[in-house]
Amino acid sequence: MLACVLSSCAAPKKAIETPIDSPIPDLIQQTTAAPLKPFIPPQSLPRTSTIHEVAPLETLWRISKMYDVTQQEIMHANSLSDPNALKVGQKLVIPAAAPLKSFIPLYPNTRWKFIVVHHTASDIGNARLVNLWHKKRGWEGIGYHFIIDNGTVGKGDGQIEISPRWIKQMKGAHCKACDMNEVAIGVSLVGNFSKTLPSAPQMDSLVFLIRELMKYYHIPAQNVIGHRNVLGANTECPGTKFPWEKFKKQISY
Ligand SMILES: [Zn+2]
Repeated sequence: MLACVLSSCAAPKKAIETPIDSPIPDLIQQTTAAPLKPFIPPQSLPRTSTIHEVAPLETLWRISKMYDVTQQEIMHANSLSDPNALKVGQKLVIPAAAPLKSFIPLYPNTRWKFIVVHHTASDIGNARLVNLWHKKRGWEGIGYHFIIDNGTVGKGDGQIEISPRWIKQMKGAHCKACDMNEVAIGVSLVGNFSKTLPSAPQMDSLVFLIRELMKYYHIPAQNVIGHRNVLGANTECPGTKFPWEKFKKQISY
């Protein structure tokens, strides 16, 4: 499988991010989640009421953990009677929300040997929008396992969103080349990094997330690769300006 990886100085590929993937079979396996890992923002901010847009397969329990408020408080503030009746795109008032924390659920699974980093090749986006875009391609929703937002469309800059594909531990639909979908966790940052650089909060969250995944799944730094560095992937993804050298130093320790 290592032969699938090109060196980082490989010749640039043609532009255009074109994930090409076949339909995904149903749920591969249900596993028990390991303890959730909290991400503590670098600066402590005061609590404030905020609006949260429900992402695909997001539960009230997870939202309550993200903002450190109880499910009952959210239900009361939004006059909800059924905690299981959330709709994707629904806007919830979160009263006295703490600064957003990212919770990364980790599931025992021997499938994951690589991590492939992508960009969405779009200026804006979030998990809900990527879900719609990928469904239009005929896939089972978001092809990636994680999305790192850029502060557009109602999500925070650097916010980590967890795809239903990760929660269900389904194989990816993000890198068909070299059968990476079978073995690689797909992480995508919102943006087009052939045009601009990722934001500092996005890179901080990426390093945090990748380190958590590397540690839990025993994935070496050499197996953390850009989409463009997979042999046979005809793409610039995650963009010609992506700060790959600095990023690799940050995850190699
Ligand atoms: Zn890609």
